[in-house]
Amino acid sequence: MSKIELLAPAKDLNKARIAIMYGADAVYVGGKFYSLRSRASNFELEDLKELSEFAKQYGAKVYVTVNIVFHDDDYYGIREYIRYLGKIGIDAVIISSLALIPIVRQEAPNMECHISTQLSSLNSSAVRTLKDFGADRVVLGREASMDQIEQISRKASVPLEVFIHGGMCSNYSGRCTLSNRMTLRDANRGGCAHSCRWKYRLYDGEELISDPDCLLSMSSKDLRASAYIERMINCNVASLKIEGRMKSEYYIGQVVKTYRKMIDEIYEKGSLSEERLAYYDNELTKAENRPSDDGFLSGDCDNSKHLYGVNGAGVTHDYVAFVHGFDSKRNIAQIEVKNIFARGDKLEAFGPRTDNLSFDVEFMFDENWDSVDLANKPTQILYMRMPFAVHRGDMLRKVSRR
Ligand code: SF4
Repeated sequence: MSKIELLAPAKDLNKARIAIMYGADAVYVGGKFYSLRSRASNFELEDLKELSEFAKQYGAKVYVTVNIVFHDDDYYGIREYIRYLGKIGIDAVIISSLALIPIVRQEAPNMECHISTQLSSLNSSAVRTLKDFGADRVVLGREASMDQIEQISRKASVPLEVFIHGGMCSNYSGRCTLSNRMTLRDANRGGCAHSCRWKYRLYDGEELISDPDCLLSMSSKDLRASAYIERMINCNVASLKIEGRMKSEYYIGQVVKTYRKMIDEIYEKGSLSEERLAYYDNELTKAENRPSDDGFLSGDCDNSKHLYGVNGAGVTHDYVAFVHGFDSKRNIAQIEVKNIFARGDKLEAFGPRTDNLSFDVEFMFDENWDSVDLANKPTQILYMRMPFAVHRGDMLRKVSRR
């Protein structure tokens, strides 16, 4: 039985590298065309090639989303694009149109076709039919309960991918035109304006009928499936997918690392104790900015899983610096400032090889070796005396004041 895959999102090359360095087995990214996040994509064709080469050094895979809902005009150039992805060694495309399967077979025969969650595959017959059409993997709809996932998995003859973390649509994924109607941006062609997350007041004609002090949102709480990972491993799900192609490098690093360690511990010990699950949940909280929940996995998706008037939970930790290097002779880290912090603050370092090490900021210097008391210029490079070794790619955070 092969080990379950941890699949992470990335908005740009840097975040994709972070995801792989922090333990993702595969990353999924969108190019500037044909992708649901195309407006936000920073992946030029050359970047996709560079990512493919980088991933191969780590034995990781790269999947590219080609998941817009195609209208006739959208097909322009698709064959050349698919051929290019195959040529640079992309492992799979994530598609929502079955019409792309024969195109992929002809233009890039080594590339797999993964069926996007937008097809809302929630039963074994749908999965079987998609396999008959040539699917190499099916991403289940986020609306499946854990019992249903187990049931589908028992009968599936094609690998299944399941969402475990991140934002949820208030509608069935991809079956929403809120954004189209409110902003003329087509959610299914890369333009979702997240209209469900906006804040609303409720009027009956001219009369305000919602609480004047409370703005309403139509948004779901985020998904957090930490309590179900063991069952997903045991029922042979092939891949665990983190949502969040718009998220920061801090979010990617922290969430990927947490699930990486959790998965490895389950394989090593056979199961996860309640204490360990609570520890990992606390780690996930360090990167969350909205309340989270187990979504549809428990089988009951009631009002408690909606945000309504609840605003963001607020992250418990602020990401304050990225480590670019470490001089082990002088114990000096070269860091890039991401958020405000000061001499005397207690920080925590974490990274692929650094496990939540706390320290007090004592000495910081700028590039002229002038002492710095307050780090408040984003992207500024500073040097910091460390009580322990850190590594390139580590991150520093502090407990949030919120
Ligand atoms: S507006 Fe909200 S529910 Fe609709 S597609 Fe966008 S994120 Fe999903």
